[in-house]
Amino acid sequence: MSIVENLHQINQSIPEQVTLVAVSKTQPHQAIQTLYDAGQRVFGENKVQELVDKFEALPKDIQWHMIGHLQKNKVKYMASFVHLIHSVDSEDLLKEINKQAAKNNRVISCLMQIHIAQEETKFGMDATEAKELLESYSEKYPNVRIVGLMGMATFTEDENQVRKEFQYLKSLFDQFQLQYSELKILSMGMSGDYQMAIEEGSTMVRVGSSIFGERNYL
Ligand SMILES: *Cc1c(COP(=O)(O)O)cnc(C)c1O
Repeated sequence: MSIVENLHQINQSIPEQVTLVAVSKTQPHQAIQTLYDAGQRVFGENKVQELVDKFEALPKDIQWHMIGHLQKNKVKYMASFVHLIHSVDSEDLLKEINKQAAKNNRVISCLMQIHIAQEETKFGMDATEAKELLESYSEKYPNVRIVGLMGMATFTEDENQVRKEFQYLKSLFDQFQLQYSELKILSMGMSGDYQMAIEEGSTMVRVGSSIFGERNYL
C-alpha cells in the first residue's frame, strides 16, 4: 500500500475526535508533501534541526509538533513556529519555552510528558512533579499553556502491561482535568499500540511507521 492509502486507512479506523499526528522523522520532504497533498496537516518530529529544515521547506500551514526529548538550548530555533510541544519534562524546560515564546510574542502550547513506562530510559515527570508544575506555572510563565499530557508505554509484547500504563495516564489526566479544565489533549499511542490507546482514552496518537513504513536511519 502507498503512504496515502495507509494514511486514509488509519484515519478511517480512528474516531473523528482523535487527532492523528503523522510522525515524519527521518522521512524525506517529498513523502511529507505527498501526505500534505492528501490533506494531512499535522506532523511530528523528534529532532529540532530536522524540524526546522522541514518547516522551512514545506507548506506554511503545516502544524508542526515536537514529540522528542528537547534540550533547552534548542528551543529558540523552533519557538517562532512550533504548534505543540509534547515533551515538557521539567520546569527548567518550560521556563525556557516561556522565554523564547515571549521573544516571539507567542503563547506556546505544551504537554507535560509523564513517565509511565518501566524502562528508565524514557523521559518524563512523575505525577507529583506534574501536579506541582500545573499548580504553579501560569503566573510565572504567561507565554506557555499546558494543554494536556503525553506518555510513552513500555516497549514490550505484554499488552496488559501497556494497557495498564495507558490506564494510569488516563486516570491522572482525568484527575488533573477536574481542576484544570484547559487540559484537553491526552497524547498516547504509536504505531504498535494506538488502537489500544484510543480504547483507553487517548485524544491524540503519534503514528510513524504504520504510515511511512519502517524507518531508515542511515
Ligand atoms: C518515533 C516516535 C513515534 C512514532 O513511532 P512509530 O512506532 O513509528 O509509530 C511516536 N512518538 C514518539 C515520541 C516518537 O519518537
